[in-house]
Parts: sequence; C-alpha cells; structure tokens
Amino acid sequence: MLQTSLKKEPGVNESAEMLRLVLPLMTRHNIPATPENYSIWFHYITDDRQGLKEYIDRLLEQKIPFTAELNEQIHKQFLFESELQQAEKVRKGVATALAEATAALRVTGSDADRYRKVLGTFDESCGSAKTVSDIYGLLNTVLEETHSMQQSMERLQQDFIIKSRDMDNLKKELDQVRKQASTDALTGLYNRTTFFDALENVDTDSDPFANPYCVAMMDIDHFKRVNDTFGHLVGDKVIRFVADSLRQSTKGRDCASRYGGEEYALLLPETSLENAVILCNKIREHIAKTNLVRSGTKESLGQITISAGVAQNRSGESRMDLLARADRALYQSKERGRNRVTASDD
Ligand code: GH3
Ligand code: MG
Ligand code: MG
Repeated sequence: MLQTSLKKEPGVNESAEMLRLVLPLMTRHNIPATPENYSIWFHYITDDRQGLKEYIDRLLEQKIPFTAELNEQIHKQFLFESELQQAEKVRKGVATALAEATAALRVTGSDADRYRKVLGTFDESCGSAKTVSDIYGLLNTVLEETHSMQQSMERLQQDFIIKSRDMDNLKKELDQVRKQASTDALTGLYNRTTFFDALENVDTDSDPFANPYCVAMMDIDHFKRVNDTFGHLVGDKVIRFVADSLRQSTKGRDCASRYGGEEYALLLPETSLENAVILCNKIREHIAKTNLVRSGTKESLGQITISAGVAQNRSGESRMDLLARADRALYQSKERGRNRVTASDD
C-alpha cells in the first residue's frame, strides 16, 4: 500500500493542547507572543525543525536573553518559508499573470474582429447607400466602433502596464528566492550546494597547466574553545567575521562558501597553486592579526586563527579527488600546529 509521509494538520484539541504547552514556556523566557515567536516555540515543542531544538536548548543552557534581534534571527534561520514554498508562490503568480494577459488579449481580439467586420461592410454599404444621410449613418457606426476599439486598446494597454509591473515584482521575488537558495543564512556566503555547482561548472582545459584552478578548504582552529568560553552566539559572530574576511579577499569568479559549521571552501578559477597559497595566507594573516572583542565588555576573544589546505587541479583527476586532496592538506596544517596554509603535494 502506498505510504504517505505528509503530516496531518493538528485538530482543534491538539492545537489547544499545544497552546497550553507553548505559552507558559514563552512567558517564562520573556518572549513576546508574536506569531513568529509562537511558531518558533511551537516547533521547539514538536521538535520537527532540524537543529532548532538543540539550538534553543543551548541558548537556554547558557541563559542567553531572547532579544528581539535573536528571536528574529532564529525565525529566519529555522522557520523562514521554505524555498520550495516560495518558488511555488512565484510560479503561481507568473501563471496567473500570464492567464490574465492571455484573457485580455482574447477580449481585445474579439473586439478587433468585430471592428474588422464593421470596416469590411462599410465599403459595401457605402456602394449601396442612396443618400448623404445613409452615408452619414454608416459613418456614425464606424466612428462609434472606432471609439470603442480605441477604448478597448487603452484598456489593454493599461492591463499590460499593470501586468508588466506584476511581472517585475515577481522577478524580484524570484531573484530573492534564488539568492536565499544559493547562500548561507548565517554568513551570506555561498552555501555548500552552490560551491559544488561552481566546482562542477568551473571552466577548465584538459591541460591543467593551460588553465589551472584551485580549491582551498579552511577551518577555524580550536573553535570549540570559542563556543565553550564565550557561548554559541559569540561563536556565530566569529564564523561571520571569518566569512567577511573571505568575502573581502575574493572577487569575480571566485566562489567563497560556508562548507559546514566552521569550515569554508574556496573555488579559485584561473589561479595557480602558488597564487592560491598567497591568497589563503593573506586571509589567514588578516584573521590572525585582528583582535576580536566582545561587543559589550570589550573583552578580547583571544587570537582567532584558521588553517587551510590548497590543491590545484590535475589532468584526469575528478573534482571530488581534488577536494579530498585539499582536505588532506588542511589536516596537515592542523597536525603541523594550525594557523598555517598547506599546499597539497600528495
Ligand atoms: P580544530 O582546530 O581541530 O578544528 O578544533 P575545533 O575545536 O575547531 O574542532 P571541531 O571542528 O571538531 O569543532 C567545531 C565546533 O564548531 C563544533 C560545533 O559545535 C561548532 N559549530 C558548528 N557549527 C556551528 C555554528 O553554526 N555556530 C557555532 N557557534 N558553532 C558551531
Ligand atoms: Mg571543523
Ligand atoms: Mg575547527
């Protein structure tokens, strides 16, 4: 028998039961009862949003206050309308706009048919008209039809102005959805999927010397300590700071992505191994020499460093093997003491 994985909507009793569970929790943690906050805590209880419960538990454990900013960030990170839902909304919008435009064209088309007929018969009728007033009558009909055709065309023009505005808005929404789908919510860098797409599509030659490209894997050193000492939210800020450093140092066709928790992957098209190492060292040095402080107390977080591994494409090598070499080079950087960049030589 066919199984369905769709969840049943909760009934009235279940919803009331959820309300009884969710509201006291929100009150206890001083959370304003907005629909967004309610949905955060609803899913906290149902535990059906990946990572949400763990994230909130960690905040509770560390007694982090749920400020409006934090509530908004949680909502954005875990509950924002799924990309699929948004894409579906845009798809429906486009379909409706097109259907309306087609209907408007059809109406104007039938007006135009009638007008064509009136003009066609005018010639004939003129031939058989006996008096000036007959012709005058015919001319009046043509004038009326011309006027009504003109109005019909104006309506159509107005319709199309509105439609094209609707389409512009839909396009903006679509751009937004595409942007969200390709980027990482915390850092704004590309996400792992986009990185793999870029790696798959990087322009290359069969001769790697003619058109070299590199990948670099990076990982924040001893990041657990940052989380353990200063808490997860400060950890998130460090992740964002490293992301900003990557963004500032890359450009054009480079693809800087958040690969995982505190790991990043860089794709550097048309870049030799030597230049890729220079770039990674520039990023590494910038991070190591920046003194990050807590926003309130100005307490220093201590030196933040990253390790990196870089590999250049080789003839006949798969892209996954190239990535694995960069990853092994990263681990050599870790083994050799961290805060360094290693070029793959295996
Ligand atoms: P190493 O130098 O060997 O990389 O040490 P490390 O402490 O960085 O080790 P590891 O990679 O095992 O630890 C990464 C930690 O990053 C574990 C995880 O809790 C934390 N982490 C993963 N994603 C996030 C995130 O989005 N935010 C925060 N604050 N921490 C995260
Ligand atoms: Mg790691
Ligand atoms: Mg690490």
